This record gives sequence, C-alpha cells and structure tokens, in this order.
Amino acid sequence: MARYTEAVCRLCRRERMKLFLKGAKCDTMKCPIERKPYPPGEHGRGRIRESEYMLQLREKQKARRIYGVLEKQFRNLYAEANRQTGITGENLLRMLEQRLDNVVFRANFAASRNQARQFVRHGHVTVNGKKVTIPSYMVRKGDVVEIGPKARNFIVVRHNTDTIDRAVPMWLETETGALKVTVRDLPLREQIDIPVREQLIVELYSK
Ligand code: SF4
Repeated sequence: MARYTEAVCRLCRRERMKLFLKGAKCDTMKCPIERKPYPPGEHGRGRIRESEYMLQLREKQKARRIYGVLEKQFRNLYAEANRQTGITGENLLRMLEQRLDNVVFRANFAASRNQARQFVRHGHVTVNGKKVTIPSYMVRKGDVVEIGPKARNFIVVRHNTDTIDRAVPMWLETETGALKVTVRDLPLREQIDIPVREQLIVELYSK
C-alpha cells in the first residue's frame, strides 16, 4: 500500500504549523517548527502570494497530511462525502475520523497516526474481535476496537498508555486499564479538533 515515506517535519513546515505527526517529539523543543517556522526549501523565507486557490490547496493538504491520506484516496473520500446527505465538508472530516488508524490514535494507544497505522498493518488491532489490517477501515457506531493480546505487552504500547494524556473525544469510550475502545457514536464537527477549514476543501474540489 502506498504511503508517504519522506521526512514528515517538512510537511508541518510547509503548512507553517504543528501537525503533530511525530508523537512525543512534537511537544519538545526538538520540533523543527520551533526553530524554523517557515516553509522548507530555498525560497521558504520569501514572500508568499496568498491567492484564493493557494488557501484552498493548503487546507486540503493540511487535512491529508494530518490523517496520512494520499491524494487519490482523499479524492475518493471527498466523492463519497459529496454523495452522502448533509454538509459535504463535515461528512469528509467525519469519515477521516472514522478511519481505524485514527481511532487507535485517538484512544491514546499510539503516539501518532503513523504509529497507529503500523499497529493496524501488523495485525495488532481487532474490531469486534476480528483482526483488521486495513488502516482506512471505517469504524461504525457500536464497534469495539481492541489492541490484540500479543501487542498488549509491547513496551511501546504500555509506554503510550502510561504517558499520553490527550483527552479522548466524547464519541469514543475507553475503559480504564483495558486496551479497548468503543465507538459510542459517530463524531460531530465540534468534536473534531483539527485546524482545518473544510469549506475551503469543498470549494477546491467543486471547481
Ligand atoms: Fe511537526 Fe511533530 Fe515534526 Fe514538529 S516534531 S514539525 S509537530 S511532526
């Protein structure tokens, strides 16, 4: 499966904000955004022309990068969001949140979505008791997502559950001490705390 394999901190610098793609490093002074808060490359510090198209493009790229989704998959998601009833931009964000790797990350079992994706790909995550190895698998209301028995003893998993103190969103229900999360409901827009203006993505794709 295709995925982005280059330096991820460049992506944050391109968006000129922290996208929290690296786990623990993101909260330290080692984060390159602290030292170089401008886009990478020779002209990174130059003047940037803020056209309407550029603003729309940046919002789309930001959303893609936060969730680790490649362009084609993102476009397919948008098409599906557009087909559904309701507000397209909100549908799109909700579907991104429903991804299995995102749920593992949101439940604090993984330090980053990248790490969560790796747990899923390596067969360490079950949904309703069945192993699922597809990070883009979309959870539904009532699904129970669990870390498999082997991975429960991994130092990295224990470390994550002991040290990560991000608030688990209201649409997920975790049990203290259990590496298990239940999807209480599908997320509402106000429960999705990513710094993206989804309306601009809709405008971009509607051209
Ligand atoms: Fe982004 Fe984290 Fe890298 Fe900082 S350390 S630039 S927040 S991925």
